[in-house]
Amino acid sequence: MIAELPEPVRVRKFMQGNLVIISSPSGGGKGTLIKELLASLPDIGYSVSLTTRPARPGEIDGEHYHFVTRDEFELRAKSGEFLEYAEVHGNYYGTTRAYIDSIRETGKDVILEIDVQGAGWVLKRAPDAVSIFIMPPSFDVLRDRLTSRATEGAEDLATRLRNSVQEVGQFFQFEYVVINDRAVDAAERLRAIIVGERQKRIRQETAIRGILDSFEESKAFRTGD
Ligand code: 5GP
Repeated sequence: MIAELPEPVRVRKFMQGNLVIISSPSGGGKGTLIKELLASLPDIGYSVSLTTRPARPGEIDGEHYHFVTRDEFELRAKSGEFLEYAEVHGNYYGTTRAYIDSIRETGKDVILEIDVQGAGWVLKRAPDAVSIFIMPPSFDVLRDRLTSRATEGAEDLATRLRNSVQEVGQFFQFEYVVINDRAVDAAERLRAIIVGERQKRIRQETAIRGILDSFEESKAFRTGD
């Protein structure tokens, strides 16, 4: 076991958290992986999107999505509230700017669970975002997952399956690809990416400057002045 100081010095709060984009086709399993990530990793938040899609049984307004009417969505889009938004499988989905900024300022990473079009937009505006594509291991697995979760009617299911072909073809936009063959392993790999990204020098420069300052201030102590 690693011995900790009684009060570990928390430097993460001096850093800006990363924007982490996670995309996959519907049924790719990203929901389960993200749930696991949020439960097991500290300093990470989830951006709750707005959508015009009706809530599924068990979905909670404000937790899974903010469910709004088409009129309200369009009004908020016009007022420039969204970092990105897109029409996906016939409904609008959008990410609000203010919430993301407030989480990142506290040093926490923020997960954006968005579709491939939205991911493209965010990467144009924030090229330093971490982008991860969750790839199902085959079309059959994707279809079985979507069918067995039974959250969509036949028509919506067919739309999602049709759209999945175009969506998996967009994998090249992403820096990382996690193949979701076995959920526990995929969750571990996803976690490793996020933890690894946090260690990049370039992402820690503010915190490192603070540490270096403390060494600078110790000059008097070292020289005995
Ligand atoms: P679902 O209806 O299954 O919850 O989501 C359908 C698709 O919309 C998924 O690919 C999901 O990642 C995406 N999505 C959810 N929120 C957003 C968002 O704010 N922006 C964009 N562009 N896509 C989103």
